[in-house]
Amino acid sequence: FSVPQPLPETVRWVADALQTGLVQTTHPRYYGLFNGRAALAAEVADRVAAAFNPQLSVWSHAPAAVDIERHTISAVSVRLGYGPTAGGHFTSGGSEANYTGLLCALTRAHAGFDELGARAFDGPPRVYASRDSHLAWLKIAHQAGIGRGAIRLIATDGRGRMDLNALRLAIETDLRAGDVPVMIAATAGTTNAGAVDPLRECRMVADQHGLWLHVDAAWGGGLIASTRARGLLEGIERADSITIDAHKWLAATMGTGMFLVRDATLLARVFRVAASYMPASDPGLDPYVNSVQWSRRFAGLRLFTTLATAGWDGLGRHIERCLELAHRLESRLRASGWAIVNDAGMAVVCATPPTASVSVDGIIADLHAKGQHWCSRAMFEDQAVVRACITNSTTNEADVEALAKALHVLARARVELR
Ligand SMILES: *Cc1c(COP(=O)(O)O)cnc(C)c1O
Repeated sequence: FSVPQPLPETVRWVADALQTGLVQTTHPRYYGLFNGRAALAAEVADRVAAAFNPQLSVWSHAPAAVDIERHTISAVSVRLGYGPTAGGHFTSGGSEANYTGLLCALTRAHAGFDELGARAFDGPPRVYASRDSHLAWLKIAHQAGIGRGAIRLIATDGRGRMDLNALRLAIETDLRAGDVPVMIAATAGTTNAGAVDPLRECRMVADQHGLWLHVDAAWGGGLIASTRARGLLEGIERADSITIDAHKWLAATMGTGMFLVRDATLLARVFRVAASYMPASDPGLDPYVNSVQWSRRFAGLRLFTTLATAGWDGLGRHIERCLELAHRLESRLRASGWAIVNDAGMAVVCATPPTASVSVDGIIADLHAKGQHWCSRAMFEDQAVVRACITNSTTNEADVEALAKALHVLARARVELR
């Protein structure tokens, strides 16, 4: 930094560093976390947003940008089946959206939470999520000041979904102990295995005890784009709030989360604030008094341009194609003796090798060492699995067949080694 370099050289240096210094998550044979390849429209949106660099904290500073985001959120909200009282906003990701859900739940649960925080409650507040939920919940509880111990990790039912009997029992046990159940955090599409918790039944349990129901559909929420596949999310429209990440399955670049809430007026209560240096604010409209962030990037433009150019139908075809490819991968693996252990019908495959004693860790290590494909090792219902998810629109049949073949060869080589 002491000797200034020209921009072209600097960019070339950075590109070279990234070319060799990254897991190439945009590659069609990357089946790891949910980052696929962003749509060109989303990439372009990033450049446009950077050029204008609008300040979205208040509507009056960037009415066009704030309105574009509101229009996009409203389209997602309608698509989810939410009514006219609903609202929401773009977030940095699923974690911020889930955090917002918890703050809404706590604020609605006790009128004193605004001023007193967790002390307002008669006992420690409790939140229920399955043990296969996204464990950002632990960080979120820590941040919100209710403590990591507030998260009750509920057993799963053998298929990766929240076990309803275990949920009911946990709530009743907590009530008897004087704790205060506040929220059920159901997952629609677990990160590991795509399992969808029983949303209708979670709603019933939440209603019975007056709890907030949040549905974390960070990845699985992409299904709303497909009229054929969206049935997997049935019941999501009855959630009090919902998380969807457009940067996972809706082809946006990183940092495009969304928080949707059935009663949008609650946001203005949770995030209210006044500052003399800010332009006069409109509590129903200004992002900084309705969300965690203050200055904010024009992230929603990425989903706007993607939807404007592909339409819901285009995004729906992308989702359906990922599902078809996952299905193809499953049948190829089965044909070579592998077992598919998850059955969520989503574009994530959890598989175990034909010979139980062959180590999944070993296969994954060999796969990574060869550097041709990238899958992760995960745990599903206490079993180590090879996990492959498909979110990339450039992945094709030949890619998944090559993966099935590579896994087959690696598993066989490990049997022969012994
Ligand atoms: C990825 C994921 C999250 C976290 O979202 P980020 O965008 O990484 O913050 C939360 N929940 C589920 C189910 C996820 O898959």
